[in-house]
Amino acid sequence: MTDRLDDDADDVTRRATGLIHHPYQPPTAFAAPMAGVFKASTVYFENTAAMRSSRWIDKSAYTYGLHGTPTTFLLEERLATLEGGTHALLVPSGLAAITLVDIALLKAGDHVLLPDNGYGPGTRFARDDLARWGITMGLYDAMDPASLAAAITPATRLVWTEAPGSVTLEFPDLPALVRTVREHAPQAKVALDNTWGAGLAFDAFAGAGVDLTIHALTKYPSGGGDVLMGSVVYRDAGLHAKLAWARARLGLGVGVNDVEAILRSLPSMPLRYAAQDAAGRGFAQWCLGRAEFKRVLHPALPDSPGHAHWKALCRAAAGLVTVEFDERYTAAQVDAFVDALQRFKIGWSWGGPVSLAVPYQAAEMRSLPTPYTGTLVRFCLGLEALDDLTADVEQALAALSR
Ligand SMILES: *Cc1c(COP(=O)(O)O)cnc(C)c1O
Repeated sequence: MTDRLDDDADDVTRRATGLIHHPYQPPTAFAAPMAGVFKASTVYFENTAAMRSSRWIDKSAYTYGLHGTPTTFLLEERLATLEGGTHALLVPSGLAAITLVDIALLKAGDHVLLPDNGYGPGTRFARDDLARWGITMGLYDAMDPASLAAAITPATRLVWTEAPGSVTLEFPDLPALVRTVREHAPQAKVALDNTWGAGLAFDAFAGAGVDLTIHALTKYPSGGGDVLMGSVVYRDAGLHAKLAWARARLGLGVGVNDVEAILRSLPSMPLRYAAQDAAGRGFAQWCLGRAEFKRVLHPALPDSPGHAHWKALCRAAAGLVTVEFDERYTAAQVDAFVDALQRFKIGWSWGGPVSLAVPYQAAEMRSLPTPYTGTLVRFCLGLEALDDLTADVEQALAALSR
């Protein structure tokens, strides 16, 4: 061992300082289709006074990666515009958007109402978790505003809506539900799960009149089946103070590479949505001609529940279609049908390029009575050619008679 070897090791590590505090600054003028991706936990302050006075809540400055970067601010502003709100908050999933709204707006002693045909995990959070914190919940029939009026109590502070219903796709009279809340529970906020409409099918604020929306960006905004993210959008500064601070205290951050993926997909979303809407209508029409199906559920079909409400509010219809199999087919036969599908894959979620199918038992999903007695299959249309998808269903229906 010689001293010289030790000196060399020292030289290597001393290069780190020069690499970290490198003087080069690229020219700031850089214009390209995609905005830059800014990643940070730490962000620098000019001095201690700036550290104390910087505010992330109004997007006037940056304080810490959790509270926003240029990349997350950009997506939030675009989503607020898409849905017709003034503010948007990003959270790690659509479900996190639902639970953030519940946690931010409710306290012990409050009551929350949810549609019986709503997104299941949101209902389970209310039933299993909010209940432990002294917040009670109730379910109403989304297709009957009188059922909502009857379920409201003096303690009701939040009413969830969803259009159309989860899996069964009944389209409620959203403006009537909102009017019912204003009349019977003026102290309550109305939240809408806007994932199906995606800010494209109808106007949640100007059209339906809700106070806030949540959106599973996992679906159409991502469009790839490869990102989980959610947003909350609203128009009210008082809501912003509650929701933004609750998000900060809960420590809900999003990965900037995921934000980048959504920023890249967002410009093509209206075109993808229109294509999947057209595929959904064509597929629903084709399903109407099949004797194996007792009912075809799709809001644009005249016989689908709530069609008139859809027609009054909407200009588009997403790419989801649910069929109810005739009762002569057992649940096991319907499973065999789903297993026989080749182009449709079996899996949760929707909005990506690949078509998906999932079987459901309606009775197991609802607390209130439902008209559905047969096994349901929900199809989400991807971006494949429609003829290839109907041919796939046709060949898989042969499995029913095997
Ligand atoms: C998928 C979905 C959610 C939840 O979104 P995740 O990102 O999967 O948590 C909420 N509501 C609706 C209507 C959805 O389709």
